[in-house]
Amino acid sequence: MSYINIEKVSKSYNKKDVLKDISFGMEKNEIIAILGPSGSGKTTLLKCILGLEHPDRGLITIDSKSHSDWLSKQRIAYVPQQYANFEYLTVRQNVALAAHDNLTLSSQEILNSLKSVGLHKYADHYPGSLSGGMQQRLALARALAQKTNIVAFDESLSALDVETRHQMQELILDIWVEKKKTFLFVTHDIEEALFLANRIVVMGTRPGSIQQILNIPFEYPRASNLRFDEQFQRLRKGLTFSIRSEMIKGRLVEGQTLKAGALKVGLYIWPGNSPFFYAQDQGLFDKRGLSVELISFSDNREKIEYWKRKQIDILNVSMDTALRLKKQIPETEIISELVLSKGGDALVTREPLESVKQINGKKIALERGEIGEFFLNYVLHKNGLSLDDVILRDMKSDEIGTALINHAVDAAVLWEPWLSKTIELSGAHKLVTSKQYPVFMDVLVARKSFIKKNKKHIEQLKQVFEESVEVFKSDKNHFIRSVAPHVGLGTRELEAQLATLEFFKGSVVEVTRIMNEIRPFV
Ligand code: ADP
Ligand code: MG
Repeated sequence: MSYINIEKVSKSYNKKDVLKDISFGMEKNEIIAILGPSGSGKTTLLKCILGLEHPDRGLITIDSKSHSDWLSKQRIAYVPQQYANFEYLTVRQNVALAAHDNLTLSSQEILNSLKSVGLHKYADHYPGSLSGGMQQRLALARALAQKTNIVAFDESLSALDVETRHQMQELILDIWVEKKKTFLFVTHDIEEALFLANRIVVMGTRPGSIQQILNIPFEYPRASNLRFDEQFQRLRKGLTFSIRSEMIKGRLVEGQTLKAGALKVGLYIWPGNSPFFYAQDQGLFDKRGLSVELISFSDNREKIEYWKRKQIDILNVSMDTALRLKKQIPETEIISELVLSKGGDALVTREPLESVKQINGKKIALERGEIGEFFLNYVLHKNGLSLDDVILRDMKSDEIGTALINHAVDAAVLWEPWLSKTIELSGAHKLVTSKQYPVFMDVLVARKSFIKKNKKHIEQLKQVFEESVEVFKSDKNHFIRSVAPHVGLGTRELEAQLATLEFFKGSVVEVTRIMNEIRPFV
């Protein structure tokens, strides 16, 4: 059993899940960082550990005692983001506030706390005369004076400028090495987590859950130049990708309203769906009296399962998946063609290769049974190879980039928005893209019985999509500004990704050509 043990902790506010099944252990004198994007529930989790909030379910124990038993005799010191110093008390008096029912502090102990953060010369100053960094050190001195083994930090350094923050991080590590305490450090800053922690608990959104727990291999004491170390940089890039993925996923699901009687449209995360997000943002559905709920998925297979279980009416899939679904469920009908990928999907490799033939024998990450596998299968066949010539590693779309950045695979099939980010962070090379093979397109499908009953609404949905595409063509900047926050991308980033696709113009000849190309592979 760990020193601090957190087991299946869940919590919701107003019926909204904020934490779900959080479990991890913390050893005595360990320094752990809890890292996650804003809104992932870090503060809520910390409040549960501090005893300021109670989990709805789950168990927290400290030193083999029940949480409340431990807290009745001891405290967890806490360093907040706002320094929370009292302006009308001197530095010394501010530290004296650390005393409480079970703890008295001598003036020497107070001075020692101030010494450990280098503030003893300012003992009789008032906080107002100190810089931000010094005020934060005062808050730290107060926490250290509490003589507890556990100190918790919640974004404690976020308000400081970069240089001061780095100095504080080194000070915190010095103190940790010297005093051997258990430090729990909550932050959204990847570099900070990497520099301080011996393990990082990465939180994901939708709802707050643990995405991964990473062991950080660097020895203590750690010096500032560690930040430029190659392995440090690689870990930073891997984490940047994870956090970014969580942000993209988190934003999209927030739009979920569960409106009764609405047309439920299941989408995947792909800039090709921007016209739907534009329509939602600008209220174009409402304008036509159309009740639509857009439900986004980062896991394509999960999305299809939802549709099979009739939790979704209309499904956005790639054409190859549509044809496969038609085989499995004859009721499946293609409602409309949406968008053609012209560079937004790619086979990328860690080392640059000269031809597709050289991919022979390589380990390739992709999402099996979906467009990624079809993409690879198609490209390999066009180059005289087959899926048997490579080693496939089945992963979810947002995990593929991490695998490539961490050198767990040689190559990967990726699509936007993961594609650009992975290339930026891993330096991977595009071997082939959907620009060279324009057969990758997105369609909407539904069941025949549903289409029959909802003809008018489906027609309106298509019209709204086209209307949005018109705005994209005539007022691109307005369109991009409206959509970017919904897909968790920067405006220029979204613009670049939109340039790799073509909204469909509706040529029957083109669709027939693509279907004939795809059919042998489904
Ligand atoms: P983080 O610290 O990772 O940014 P928080 O724990 O502050 O995340 O918040 C997680 C989610 O819980 C957010 O969506 C936030 O709005 C919600 N939340 C936090 N505290 C409360 C509260 N007291 N009442 C209602 N919702 C809350
Ligand atoms: Mg917070």
